[in-house]
Amino acid sequence: MELIDGKKISAQIKDELKEKVAALKESGKEVSLAVIQVGADPASSIYVNNKKKACEYIGIKSLSFEIDENASEDELLGLIDRLNADDSVNGILVQLPLPKHMDENKVIERISPLKDVDGFHVQNVGALCVGKKGYVSCTPAGVIELLKRSDVEISGKHCVIIGRSNIVGKPMALLMLRENATVTVCHSKTANLKEICKEADILIVAIGKPKFITADYVKDNATVIDVGIHRDENNKICGDVDFESVSPKCSKITPVPGGVGPMTIAMLMNNCVESVL
Ligand code: NAP
Repeated sequence: MELIDGKKISAQIKDELKEKVAALKESGKEVSLAVIQVGADPASSIYVNNKKKACEYIGIKSLSFEIDENASEDELLGLIDRLNADDSVNGILVQLPLPKHMDENKVIERISPLKDVDGFHVQNVGALCVGKKGYVSCTPAGVIELLKRSDVEISGKHCVIIGRSNIVGKPMALLMLRENATVTVCHSKTANLKEICKEADILIVAIGKPKFITADYVKDNATVIDVGIHRDENNKICGDVDFESVSPKCSKITPVPGGVGPMTIAMLMNNCVESVL
């Protein structure tokens, strides 16, 4: 069994981006990302800080906007309008989740698709669907990068994805199709989940349930990608896959932490750099 080291691969990507940003600076172009946080949810603050740190490392200018939890939706939309119109801002990111009185879809749709570095705008999702250029959702894009940089062959392989969310499962399926995998998408209404998973050469798990996938779901020598992030009963970080029982059966597997997680920010940084290219 070989570990797919997301920490190492994401560090390589960030170093490559740092060089690109330095070259852009020499030609007079600056990359900038506006990060908007509504409220002070501690988990969101950690994510926002990690994004700012990654920007600083790579040389991307990050602009922070903190909006009060009780602010109106119109106030947030007004800020997005101003940032859309500001030519010095290349990327705009609204940290989710938003407070309940705000409509996430409406907020995402207000971001210019040309600045939507999260890749959540319907125009970018549509572009992915029909094979046109656009921003791709960062977590699934990170999974593709992990597979490619770990020499996992995708073309012609059977890929089973568990999960069909808009930010992970669905774009993941489209990306694997683009790479010429034969793709099966499973969800909560799927019958015979275990049997289907056992057919997978590449099993991508984004089910949102701690340690759900055990060894009996996995074919010998499969590649397993675990997108999940949770805290277990001992407050330790774990994934959707029961790493202890599954890892001896796999040819390659991502750990949690240190697998898909670090790739999400690396791919966000990649989207920011692409926004000026
Ligand atoms: P989500 O929106 O909760 O989606 C979960 C998916 O799993 C849904 O499509 C659901 O089916 C399906 N599902 C639930 N129970 C199932 C069952 N018993 N059998 C088969 N399918 C089942 O979650 P998400 O946002 O995609 O995230 C998935 C996981 O990835 C979470 O643990 C999340 O924390 C993690 N995550 C990690 C990163 C990262 O950077 N590493 C980024 C995003 C998310 P239905 O559609 O039928 O409900």
